[in-house]
Amino acid sequence: MKCTYHPDVETNLRCGKCGTPICPKCMVQTPVGARCPDCAKLYKLPTYRVSTKHYLIAVGTALGMAIVCGIAWGIVRAFVSFAFFNLLLNLLLAAGAGYAIGEVASLSVNRKRSTGLAVIGGIAVVISYLASIPFNLFINAEASFHLLDLLALALGIFVAVTRLR
Ligand SMILES: [Zn+2]
Ligand SMILES: [Zn+2]
Repeated sequence: MKCTYHPDVETNLRCGKCGTPICPKCMVQTPVGARCPDCAKLYKLPTYRVSTKHYLIAVGTALGMAIVCGIAWGIVRAFVSFAFFNLLLNLLLAAGAGYAIGEVASLSVNRKRSTGLAVIGGIAVVISYLASIPFNLFINAEASFHLLDLLALALGIFVAVTRLR
């Protein structure tokens, strides 16, 4: 018997699904057995199968975390008024909020991953940042917007996204 994908290779392996002769070079090992490259593409890992229910749970969790983190973010930041440290602190707070939002959202959907979940996490970080602004301004009237805030926001989004994609 010859491999379908490598006609010069002798083999006694077959795809567990469609029975196509395959060799160790093109065989793909999945949790349900050896598969040919075509069948392996059809088989999706459970981690990447995300239902509507999971999306709803993720949206609820991410939104709740976004508000909680946003309030903490704004309050902590308001107490550091010296501009340079305030901007550095904001980077840390953004990364922390991104981590907390991404991690808790990930746990709420049993560590599932998908582009949709990553988008939810990213949006939640933006909401969190927006929620932090009134608290920051309320306590520290001299607080002002700085371009580095956008960098902090991007960092927060990045951290959240890596935990969900
Ligand atoms: Zn196959
Ligand atoms: Zn082959």
